[in-house]
Amino acid sequence: MTKNKLGLNTICTHVGEVKDEQFKGAVSPIYLSTSYQFDDVDVKRYPRYFNTPNQEFLSKKLAALEHAEAALIFGSGMAAINAMFLTFLKAGDHLVVQNTLYGGASNFIKEQLPKMGIDYTFTNGYSVSDFEIAIKPNTKLIHIETPSNPLLTITDIEGVAQLAKSKNIITTIDNTFASPVNQNPIDYGIDIVMHSATKYLGGHSDILAGALMGSQKHMDAIWDVAKNLGGSLSDMTVWMLERSIKTLGLRVKAQNRNAKRLAKYLYKHPDVKQVNYPGLKSHPEHDLAKKQMKGFGGMLSFELEEGLDASVFQKKLKLIKSSMSLAGVESTVLSPHLTSHALLTQEERDKIGISDQLIRFSVGIESKNDLIQDIEQAIQKTKEKSQVYL
Ligand code: PLP
Repeated sequence: MTKNKLGLNTICTHVGEVKDEQFKGAVSPIYLSTSYQFDDVDVKRYPRYFNTPNQEFLSKKLAALEHAEAALIFGSGMAAINAMFLTFLKAGDHLVVQNTLYGGASNFIKEQLPKMGIDYTFTNGYSVSDFEIAIKPNTKLIHIETPSNPLLTITDIEGVAQLAKSKNIITTIDNTFASPVNQNPIDYGIDIVMHSATKYLGGHSDILAGALMGSQKHMDAIWDVAKNLGGSLSDMTVWMLERSIKTLGLRVKAQNRNAKRLAKYLYKHPDVKQVNYPGLKSHPEHDLAKKQMKGFGGMLSFELEEGLDASVFQKKLKLIKSSMSLAGVESTVLSPHLTSHALLTQEERDKIGISDQLIRFSVGIESKNDLIQDIEQAIQKTKEKSQVYL
């Protein structure tokens, strides 16, 4: 763990700035050059090597945010996941991965890893014993996601990290849903932290990016593979990501507050059957979430009562948009079975509990009362529509 002396918002605002020595501008200049003179310097800079000035400096901010020694920035969250798996897994190895996982990551594991002779096991649940049972003599990597997409299940980060360390297995985590504001898994013994920076790190629904953070040794190993895969991020977008992260702490804390209020409101609503939010006392792993998270995040999911069609409800919302992706400052909803988890079979979704009625809710920074009013009118209209067909 790398202890930061600076507070969260100071890291967000200042760490990893490229100094404008010439004009003393307030923000980092953008270096768009793909070609750098190298005859008199040690570093051979090239965008695909993750080492242009903007890439190199923003990596410092990302590492600081996750209490890591080093970081790399990728062209997408999936590019980061690929580089991470392909660094630590080779033919003959085995991966243990939790069953409640981002659909794109599950699909990559099932579609691509077998072609390379890499075996995998999806756990039956997400308790430490579920991971222990799945381990084989050739297991080299355990990958977790907590809170998970879209069910907000909580995995015991420290428990899994200790189990893996006792067997010399590397651990990786998708920390996208929590963001570095709410959870720092390296403090609990995880080796590599992964983010879809498209989500909270970007925060404005206008950047596709990914990030990996870890020890210098692990990040050097990832760099060796990643430079061949070619998934780095353009400097223009690196600069946009740097600007976005300046407000990360402020945004995510506002989203935490709104999500908690919305979760409580939905939980008490007579037309809502189920709410999944780790900040609710009713969540089965609320105590564990309290131990390992600093805030409960801006994501929740819920199901309306029987007979109220989730797709009608989404169409009736006015302020809250039905859209792909998550974590922007604007609130959005989606049906995981039609989007993030569409690549899973119905049987696979049923097994992990993703029903066709489940609605994922990414809570933004709008005024709480406006969000509640929008949901209320959409529920009333959904009820009216349902009665027409009864
Ligand atoms: N991990 C999680 C939890 C996600 O929600 C997503 C995208 O939705 C990804 C990873 C993949 O990230 P990207 O779309 O940036 O490739």
